[in-house]
Amino acid sequence: MSIPKPVRGTRDILPDAHRRHRRVTETACEIASAYGFAEISTPIIEFTEVFARTLGDTSDIVTKEMYTFDDKGGDSITLRPENTAGIARAFLSNGLAQDLPLKFFCHGPMFRYERPQKGRQRQFHQIDVEILGVPGPLADVEVIALGAHVMEALGVEDKVTCELNTLGDPESRNVYRKKLVDYLEGHRDRLSEDSLVRLERNPLRIFDSKDEGDRAVIADAPLLIDSLNDASRKYFDDLMEGLETAGVSFHLNPRLVRGLDYYCHAAFEFVTETLGAQGAVLAGGRYDGLIEQMGGPPTPATGWAAGVERLAMMIEEPPRPAPPIAVVPVGDGQAGRALGLTQKLRRAGLTVDLGYSGDLGKRMKRANKIKARAAVLLGEDELARDAATVRDMETGEQVEVPLASLEEHLRRYR
Ligand code: ATP
Ligand code: MG
Repeated sequence: MSIPKPVRGTRDILPDAHRRHRRVTETACEIASAYGFAEISTPIIEFTEVFARTLGDTSDIVTKEMYTFDDKGGDSITLRPENTAGIARAFLSNGLAQDLPLKFFCHGPMFRYERPQKGRQRQFHQIDVEILGVPGPLADVEVIALGAHVMEALGVEDKVTCELNTLGDPESRNVYRKKLVDYLEGHRDRLSEDSLVRLERNPLRIFDSKDEGDRAVIADAPLLIDSLNDASRKYFDDLMEGLETAGVSFHLNPRLVRGLDYYCHAAFEFVTETLGAQGAVLAGGRYDGLIEQMGGPPTPATGWAAGVERLAMMIEEPPRPAPPIAVVPVGDGQAGRALGLTQKLRRAGLTVDLGYSGDLGKRMKRANKIKARAAVLLGEDELARDAATVRDMETGEQVEVPLASLEEHLRRYR
């Protein structure tokens, strides 16, 4: 029989990788809490229309990347490809409109059927922060500052740049769309097939294209920032001023767009050159239109999502947990008392690993393998005296310690 494999694009997070993963997630969650955000979790499965309605039927996610199936009751279900739509759905389902403004964070697995490569998986994890109900740029400043703070706390701030752009309000974007379409029509022959479709349906998305031909055309395209009306210009100026006041450095990237229809004003991405082709570690923006598009009241909102795996690859190796103390029954006859003693030591706050079976040599080998700092040897003779032999694994020194003072003696190995 062949060795079973995980599904393509998914992976087991083994202990060493998990320490990185946890470091990223916990750091982000702690900082989000400190910024006054509250944790929520939405289900991994949603009705397909939650995403289809909000992400738009031309987005890459909806057209190519969703894991969608009919469940046994005949409902169309999708594994969440991102969390913003789920949060907007939860906001409506739970009738939270009275509680605005709301600041949420969440984290967990997302699913996209894409071509797996370094930093790109079919099941990956995101950290997500959202502010609902705040129309002005201060909320954008807060979420971007929070993102920058997470990068700092993870020690990757020198490897990432915050890129910023504005998508303006719908009026500015309509004016711009016409200019852009005029320009692109003149270069139809150089556009990819995908982009010809985008040209009909949502020309701004061509900026998101990774096709080289498209990118060459885009390089000379008119820019949205030159079509902003006064209100949108002011929004953007205030946003930049706020970021400066908050001490967040950023680079303007006038070609940065978010792939989804409901975005406006702030658009930003934290990018790195250290991960090859997968350069974005965090991406977000303002999505004032989303909740309304889902059938709710107009509700301004802004937020971002960060890729846990990509950040986990960038951080330094987190410290290992303190090595344990090994409790080693010398023979099977001492197993019962060893277990009782182990539990007592664990309750006292010590990290303790219990040797399960085998002769003394085998159990000591395991104590070495787990890098135990000390081994508590429980032989028949010692136990008869209500004592144990404690071996310092570094120096090899052994002392007999009465069980009554064992806990006290072992504190030095914490
Ligand atoms: P990309 O251009 O790399 O496909 P995206 O625009 O699809 O990214 P978003 O939907 O904005 O990504 O998701 C936010 C973040 O989630 C990304 O910046 C990235 O760090 C991470 N991410 C997205 N898709 C994947 C994936 N398939 N595997 C791992 N991380 C991902
Ligand atoms: Mg993508």
